Amino acid sequence: MLLKKTSKPILRQHRKLKAKHSSEYTKYIQGQEWKKTSNFVIWLTGGYCVLRPWKKASHTHHMTYKNMKHELPIRDCVPLSKNAHAFIHQDRFWNLNNDSQTPSPLKVWVNWGLRIMMLLAMLILPLRLCVRLILWFWNRGLHYGSLLF
Ligand SMILES: [Zn+2]
Repeated sequence: MLLKKTSKPILRQHRKLKAKHSSEYTKYIQGQEWKKTSNFVIWLTGGYCVLRPWKKASHTHHMTYKNMKHELPIRDCVPLSKNAHAFIHQDRFWNLNNDSQTPSPLKVWVNWGLRIMMLLAMLILPLRLCVRLILWFWNRGLHYGSLLF
């Protein structure tokens, strides 16, 4: 009886807190500030998804909300394509019981995997640019060559 009496207000308080938090979250996610951060994170990998680097990234995934509003790419966010994002948000990789209070034991590993993939994607970017430049000059050379001979 005593337990019931004390736990109810706590539960209600918790629900209130959650609602407040989620409205703040929604406001932030729809705002300009997050849009800028998200675009920057996507720009860092040349617009590509870190899980499937041949696909364009259309989402920025929060690996943690600990630093909400002060996110750093790699530490907190990675760019993902729509399907890769859905893949990562499966319960077994993310939150068990669809409950943000019980993270999946795999979450930590998934996050570190994503961070490493983002680092690789960023390292590959200048390489890809070099290959493109070489190919461009190569094609131009061939073109001028065919004009000369
Ligand atoms: Zn996400």
